[in-house]
Formats: sequence, structure tokens, C-alpha cells
Amino acid sequence: MTNKPVVTRFAPSPTGLLHSGSYRTALFAYIFARQNTGKFILRIEDTDKERSKKEYEDNIMDSLKWLGLDYDEFYRQSERTEIYKKYITKLVDAGYAYISKETPKEPGDREEVIRFKNPNKKVVFDDLIRGKIEFDTTELKDFIIAKSMDEPVFHLVNVVDDYEMGMTHIIRGEDHISNTPRQILIYEAIGAPIPQFAHIPLLLATDKSKLSKRHGALPVSGYREKGYLPDAILNYMALLGWHPTDDTEILSLKQIIEQFSLERVQKGGAVFDEEKLMWFNKQYVSKLSDTEFIDHAKSFIPEWLSRSDDTLQRLLPLLREKIVTFANITELFGSAGELRFVHSIQKYKPDQLLWKKAPDREVTKSHLVECRKMIRELAGKSPTIEMIKAAIWPYAEANGKGHVLWPLRMSLTGQEKSPDPFTCLYILGIDESLKRIDAAILSLNS
Ligand code: GLU
Repeated sequence: MTNKPVVTRFAPSPTGLLHSGSYRTALFAYIFARQNTGKFILRIEDTDKERSKKEYEDNIMDSLKWLGLDYDEFYRQSERTEIYKKYITKLVDAGYAYISKETPKEPGDREEVIRFKNPNKKVVFDDLIRGKIEFDTTELKDFIIAKSMDEPVFHLVNVVDDYEMGMTHIIRGEDHISNTPRQILIYEAIGAPIPQFAHIPLLLATDKSKLSKRHGALPVSGYREKGYLPDAILNYMALLGWHPTDDTEILSLKQIIEQFSLERVQKGGAVFDEEKLMWFNKQYVSKLSDTEFIDHAKSFIPEWLSRSDDTLQRLLPLLREKIVTFANITELFGSAGELRFVHSIQKYKPDQLLWKKAPDREVTKSHLVECRKMIRELAGKSPTIEMIKAAIWPYAEANGKGHVLWPLRMSLTGQEKSPDPFTCLYILGIDESLKRIDAAILSLNS
């Protein structure tokens, strides 16, 4: 091993949104570079003009930025045609490649392409994760490296760039193992040193099948929309295929960088489990300060609530307790959400106020009238949940908890499911609560 400074890269093709397998690869390459105070490069592999799209490139870059994976250099292969052309010319001139006459089979097929002259030999490389890998290149035949002098394809551009950019470690998904022998032949032909390869295991779905768009993980942007925290995603992703020497699970990126080693990356596929990701997110949400929490919650909080700072402050402990991801906030206030009542009460039938075990209108009304009196006493005192509970609880215990608390909660929320009546009273405030209880009492008269 020479002591060259470490250079790694993430080389996505912008043909889709940045997916979990890919950002896990990016993360490993990033960690390894940072751990070795090396360089991390982002290279957009957009030589496939039909499938590459600007919107996907934007998605990749936005996602990396959001995750906080900063890169030191950026390249776009579509802007490097001249460089590749130089190499193709050199390979052809030196007899490593040749212009091949083709018989077009389908419309659009070329009559001429540039093929690499396969030396048909055994290629051996030492993968940092998988160990020694041997491959007989004969079966690869003379493979295509460019469709024309100006249209190089994947294997060539990948190798030329890794060489030109001084890559020391190629950290990528194991689906690229089969490409490595071809690429090694090209390295040899252009006289470039062969970098170290580390092929990381694929991600699997919970049933151990291959992770796919339909079956498994979302792109980074999908998790962002769902209100996951980038740190939780990074932490979880780093543990897919790698784990520290002890069983610690909650690790900051800094700690991961300190402890990571490619040698400890497992060979077998790693199972991606959204439930587990949710668990990580919950841990990270609970570590946020109130200000940070509100900051992350902002884009998920309904408009009317963002205008009412008092209500938001009163809701904060409840929101902190209830959510797993920030998108849960939107659900909580949505049409089937537990906190829908905070904005406005839904119409309910007077009979819904009656406790199922004591469906008596007069008794129910008298309980509400009594509760009303106790709640009125609290007006102007900015009561806490505990104060509210202390005021009502003895009466509820004496008269039957369900008999008293069900109608009270129903009158406040109009919902079968909601937080307990003391919390609801606290969130709504005394004035609004009294209004709702009055309306309930009135409805029982009809
Ligand atoms: N552009 C390739 C891909 O997106 C990556 C190639 C590599 O990492 O060597 O799969």
C-alpha cells in the first residue's frame, strides 16, 4: 500500500430518485473518506442521455445536502466528453480497442462501435469486504466501450474518471462486482494503478427479497416528506451492513466516522426495516429541544395552528410524545386525527354524550353542569393539566369515572378518540372549553 491520501466517490446515474441502496453506498464512501481525512467526490454519471434527467440530478444533490453529506469536488460526465475521447483515441491507437463494424439488429443500432480487445485472461482482485475474487474475462468477449468517439459508455467513463480523479477506494454496491473485471482490464490498458475495491452488501426487504421501489425503502426525498430526521436516517443506514464493536445503536455521524471500518462490513445482505428506522427517528425526535422540534415540525403544522403560538406551546408535550415522524402531526390534525377537535368541534349527536353504561340524559346533564362549575373556577388561573385534573377528579371518582369523564370529553371534542379530558381542557383553554360544554348541555335539553 502506498500512502496516497484517500479519495472516494459517489457516482450515481441520475436515472431515478436517490434510493436507499444508493445513499447507503454514498454514506459508506463518505464515512471512509472523512475517517481518513481524505476527499469525497460526487460524480454524476450521466452518459446515458435517454435515461438521465436533470430532475433526478437535482434530487440526488438536494438529498445529499439534506443528509449533510458534503463533497469536496463535483463532476458531471456529460461535460467531460473531450477527456474520454482522448482515452478512446489512445486505446484505439495502441491496439487495446478497435472500431468494430456491426450489423444493426434493431432500428437505432449503430453500424460502428468501439470495442475493447479482450485479452481473455484471468483477473484477480482483493475486495476489501469480500476478499479475493477471481474472474475469467473470456466470457465477456470484446465489450463495447463507446458508441462513437463522442459517446463513451459506462465502463470506460467510470474507469477514466476514477483514474483522473485519483480514486484510491471504490466503495460501491455489490451489484457492480460483475463489472469490475472489465474495468480492471481497462485500468491495465490505460496504464492506471488499480484502486482498492470494496463492494458493500445489497439491502434486502424484511422478507429477505431484493429491496425494490415497490417493496421496501423510499428515496431520501420520500423520508424527508414523511418527516424523518436526517441524523436518524444516517445512523440507521450506517448500521445496515456495519456495526460497532459493541452493541451501541445510537451513534452520531461523528462517532460512526471514528469507529467505522470497512473490514467490519458484513458480506451478507442487510435487511432494511422501516419499523427500525421509525424507532431510530423516535429516539432522535426525543433528543430535540423544543425549539428544534418546532423548527422541524413547521412544515407539517396546519396553517391555523402556526398562527396560534399559545395553543402550539400547550400542544407541544403531547406532540412530542405522540409522533414518530413529523408527518404524523399532519395526520393528528387531519379528518381522522385525534387532535382534529383542537381546531373546531365536529357535529355530534346528543346521544353520543351518554356514557354507554348509563345512558341517562338528565344524569349526564347534571354531571356536565357540575363539571362546568368546577372548570369555571379555574378561569383566569392558567391552570396546568394537573390543576385541572385535581379540580375534577374527586367528583369523577365519587360519581363514576366513565359517567362523568365520557360526557365531558365528548362535549370538548365530539370525537370517540382523543386525549383525556384534562389534556383536552388544557389545550383548548378554559374559555373555549366552557363554550363547548355549554353547547353540550344545551343539546341535551332538546
Ligand atoms: N453509476 C453507477 C451506478 O449508479 C455507479 C458506478 C460505480 O459506483 O462504480 O450504479
